[in-house]
Amino acid sequence: MIKITDLRKTFEDKQLGTVFAVDGVSIDIAEGEFYTLLGPSGCGKTTTLRCVAGFEEPQDGSITIGDIEVFSRSKGIMFTPDKRDFQIVFQSYAVWPHLTVFENVAFPLCYGKQKVKRGEVKETVRKALDLVQIGHLAQRPAPLLSGGQQQRVALARALVAEPKVLLLDEPLSNLDAKLREQMRLEIRSLVKRLDITTLYVTHDQVEALTMSDRIGVMAEGKLLQEGTPLEIYREPANLFVSEFVGSINVIGGRVLHRGPGATGTVETAFGEVQGVMSSESLEGEPCVLVIRPESVRVHPDGAPAAANVFVGAVQSMAFLGEVWDASVNIGGESLRLRASATTPMREHDMVSVQLPPEQCRILADPGRSGGVGSVVAPAKESA
Ligand code: ADP
Ligand code: MG
Repeated sequence: MIKITDLRKTFEDKQLGTVFAVDGVSIDIAEGEFYTLLGPSGCGKTTTLRCVAGFEEPQDGSITIGDIEVFSRSKGIMFTPDKRDFQIVFQSYAVWPHLTVFENVAFPLCYGKQKVKRGEVKETVRKALDLVQIGHLAQRPAPLLSGGQQQRVALARALVAEPKVLLLDEPLSNLDAKLREQMRLEIRSLVKRLDITTLYVTHDQVEALTMSDRIGVMAEGKLLQEGTPLEIYREPANLFVSEFVGSINVIGGRVLHRGPGATGTVETAFGEVQGVMSSESLEGEPCVLVIRPESVRVHPDGAPAAANVFVGAVQSMAFLGEVWDASVNIGGESLRLRASATTPMREHDMVSVQLPPEQCRILADPGRSGGVGSVVAPAKESA
C-alpha cells in the first residue's frame, strides 16, 4: 500500500555540510498494516514521512501510495501533497485556533480531496467526533481544548475523509503519560477497525512495541532492522537495536568457535558463554554477548546442572513491586536481572545465575564495523 524504494534525502547545512537525513531506505507496507518507524531523534523518521507526504522532494528513489507512483527520480515524477491520497497527524496537532472543534473536523470535507455533499457534512463530522469520543465538544472553540482533546480533534480531522493511508508523526509525545498509554491502544484499534494503512513515527520504543504490526528501526538515516515487535525485541540484529529497544546486558568478548547450527561460544569476563550467533559474528573476532535482564535466571540455593552457570555477589537490589531489579557482580562485570519478589536473596549474597544459551545473542562488536552496526536486509516480507 505504501512502497518506498531506495529513498535518499540530503540537506545542505551551513555548519555540518551535507546531512544524509534518509540514506537508502526501502519499506513495503501492506494494506491495513500498522508500520512504525522507530529511532532516536534526528535519525530521519520525520524526513521519511515528509517525503511520503510530498512535503520534501527526495534526491533519489521512488514512492508508491496505493497503485499510484507519487515520486520517482528516474521517471521524473513528483506529485504535490494535494495529489497524494493520505491524511497526516503532526506532533503539534496543527488544530486551527480560530475554528471550533466541528469546523476543524469539517474542513477536509468542505475543502479537501474528498468533498462530500453539503447535507452530509454534519452527519459525517458527528461520526468522526464520536469515533474519538469528543462528540460533546463539537461547538467548543479550539483554544479552549486540553492537549489530549486537541490531539483527538487532529485525529478526527484525519479520519473524517476515510483515508486509505494515515501518516502519524509522534502524535502522542505532547500528552501526559496516562493519556498517552490510553491513546496508544485507542489509535491502534481505531485504524485497525477502519482498515487504514498506517505509517507511524516515534522515538518511543514502548509505543512502537505496543502499537505496531511491524517495526522498522532507524539510525543515521538507515533502516537497521525490520520485524514484528517480538522479533525486534527477541532477535535484535545488532547492538544498536538491542540497546535501543528495551534494556539489555551487553558483555564484551571474543568468539571462540562456532558450534552446530547457529550456536557459538564466546570468551568473556564471566568465563566461556554459549549463545546464538548472528550472521555477522565471526570466529576469533571481538563480539558482544547480549541478554535481557528478564531472561537471566537466578538460583540463590546453588548451581543447577546446566550450561552458562556462573557465581557472583549480589551488588544491588531495587524493589519494583512484583519483581526485584537486581545486579550481580561476576568476574568484575555486573549483570542485571529480574528476580521474583519472593526470591530469597539479599545484597552481598553469593548466588548462581544461569544465562539460558538460547536467550544469549552473540552480535558483532560495533567497534569493528563502526557507527551503529551494519545494515541488514529486511528480515521478512510483509504479510
Ligand atoms: P527525526 O524525525 O528522526 O528526529 P528528522 O527526519 O527530523 O529526524 O531529521 C533527520 C536529519 O535531517 C537531522 O540531522 C536533521 O537535523 C536534518 N534535517 C531535517 N530537516 C532539515 C532541514 N530542513 N534542513 C537541514 N537539515 C534538516
Ligand atoms: Mg521527527
